[in-house]
Amino acid sequence: MTPDARPAKGPLALSPELRQAARRIAQTEHLLVAMDFDGTISPLVDRADEARPLPRSAAAFAGLAALPRTTTALISGRALASLRAVASPPVDTLLIGSHGAEAWLGPGSAELALDEAQRRLLAEVRAVLEEIVEQAPGTLLEDKPAGVVLHTRLATDDVAEDAVAAARSVLQDRKGVFLKNGKRVLETSVVNASKGEGLTFLRQITGATAVLFAGDDVTDEDALGRLESGDVGVKVGLDFTQAEFRVEAPAHVAELLEALLQERSLVVAEEEPGTD
Ligand SMILES: [Mg+2]
Repeated sequence: MTPDARPAKGPLALSPELRQAARRIAQTEHLLVAMDFDGTISPLVDRADEARPLPRSAAAFAGLAALPRTTTALISGRALASLRAVASPPVDTLLIGSHGAEAWLGPGSAELALDEAQRRLLAEVRAVLEEIVEQAPGTLLEDKPAGVVLHTRLATDDVAEDAVAAARSVLQDRKGVFLKNGKRVLETSVVNASKGEGLTFLRQITGATAVLFAGDDVTDEDALGRLESGDVGVKVGLDFTQAEFRVEAPAHVAELLEALLQERSLVVAEEEPGTD
C-alpha cells in the first residue's frame, strides 16, 4: 500500500491481504490462536493493573476458544498471576507468562521453581535496581517470579534513559541474568526464556497445524521469528517488524479476531456430524 492510499484516521479496516490470510488459516486442521496481551488485546495504559481487553477482542477470543480443533493462548511478558488478573482469559486458554519463563497448560500445571542460586541472584538484581529507582523519579519496580522489571513510563525521557542505561551497565555482564528491552521497560530475568520458545512449546503440546500470532512489542519479535510457512504473524503498531502483516492498533486486532472467528466457525460447522 502506498502512503497516499492509507486512510489517516479512517474507518477501521483490515487489509484485503490480511483478511485473505485469516480466511486461509481458518481452514487448517488444528488452529492455535496465540496473542500478546498488552498493546494487542488490550490498549496500552499507564497503570499496568488497569489494562483490560477490548470487549470486542475478548468476545471474539472467547468465541474462538469455544470452537472445536481450535486452541487459544496468551503469550505475555506479564507474570501469570498478573496476566490472569487483567485478561480474565477464557477457562481453557493456555497461558505463557514472564516472556516464556512461566506456563499454565491446564489444571495441575507445575509452577515455576527457582533453584537456590537463581533465588540469590534475583535478590542481587533487585538490590541493584532498587538503588537506581531511588535516584530516578517516576521509575518503579515490578516483581515477577523469575525477575524484576524496571518501569520508566511515568518518568521524563532523560530520567528513563539514564535509569535503563545504569541498570544495563551493572547487569548486562552478570552471569545468569538476562535482559530484555520493551516499551519503557527493562526486563530482567534469572531464567533464560523468550516468547519465541513459548510459542514453539505451545505449537508442540497442542499439535497445532497453523498458528496465528499478533504482538506489538520488541519481545514479540522472538515469537514472530518462530512462525513457519502457513502461519500468520501480525505486528500491532508502526515499529520495525519481521511480521508478514501489520495493523495499527488493538482495535484492528479485534476486527481480525472477529474475522477469524467468523471464518473458523464456518469451517468447523461444516464438519459437524450431520444427518447423512
Ligand atoms: Mg504487548
